[in-house]
Amino acid sequence: MDVAFIGLGQMGHGMAGRLIDAGHRVTVWNRDTGKAEPFGARGATVAANPADAARSGVAVTMLANDAALEAVCFGHDGLLSAGPGLLHIACSTVSVALTDRLAAAHREAGQGFVSAQVLGRPDVAAAGKLAVIAAGAADDLDVAAPVFAAIGAKTIVMGDRPAMAAAAKAAANFGIAAVIETISEQMRIAEAQGIAADRMAALLIESDFGSRIFGSYAPMIAAQRFEPAGFPLTLGRKDVGLAISAADGAPLPLASLLAERMDAIIAAGGGDRDWSSLGQA
Ligand code: NAP
Repeated sequence: MDVAFIGLGQMGHGMAGRLIDAGHRVTVWNRDTGKAEPFGARGATVAANPADAARSGVAVTMLANDAALEAVCFGHDGLLSAGPGLLHIACSTVSVALTDRLAAAHREAGQGFVSAQVLGRPDVAAAGKLAVIAAGAADDLDVAAPVFAAIGAKTIVMGDRPAMAAAAKAAANFGIAAVIETISEQMRIAEAQGIAADRMAALLIESDFGSRIFGSYAPMIAAQRFEPAGFPLTLGRKDVGLAISAADGAPLPLASLLAERMDAIIAAGGGDRDWSSLGQA
């Protein structure tokens, strides 16, 4: 299929590459054009702006945050100015509020819109093994299916309102943050009693805790390997904030505690380190 990919950061780089490798005709756009040019050598078309990229008929976005997605959609030469018929597949981790606003704006513009937020770090994206958390109209999800097949190992549909995917992803990432804090505190208990960090990590990976989340974070925390950041703490703080606002005032004491801890680390200059560092004393 013809598909545009907008946002070639750590995640988008691998995801766009998967679409090319799957044989789709890919057009790319990135704000810093230096990240788009290498895709030309791989057979992709490099667009002049998001509206130009949207001529593909289907556009995937993978951008840093709400402000970035807003700029690419509502800005000059943004996706909403591209005319009717476009399907926008929004993969960035962004708020429920912006996702609801985008759903209405795309509807008004005669365009389709699905939220397809993803779980998995940049290496998982490059391998096409993301978990896709999707929501939107069934017809639009059908059109998006070949994209999901190229970037993900599985797609889990949350409902027909795109913002449901945004809420589910925020809830999922809050869970990862809570596990990171848990592992860090488990390591501290082990250290206090002279247990080697790699032994404690082995316990977490090989016992009933064993899961992809414990499996990827326990070794990083045991080895204190927080750089280079696959997912910087600043982005993790954004996601815990998204979870708190998605709860619509329902109390989330653990999420609030994590947000406070992350704010303190960022204030102390640790925001660029991987978010697996959030439980460090
Ligand atoms: P990243 O490497 O920082 O890339 C961010 C992308 O957003 C870049 O293409 C950047 O363009 C673009 N961007 C930022 N501000 C913009 C603006 N105002 N206008 C246009 N483009 C703008 O981030 P990432 O790790 O790929 O993450 C992307 C999204 O996926 C985030 O929402 C993140 O929370 C989510 N996510 C990340 C991971 C992970 O492990 N990294 C996993 C799952 C989901 P430039 O190149 O021009 O700066």
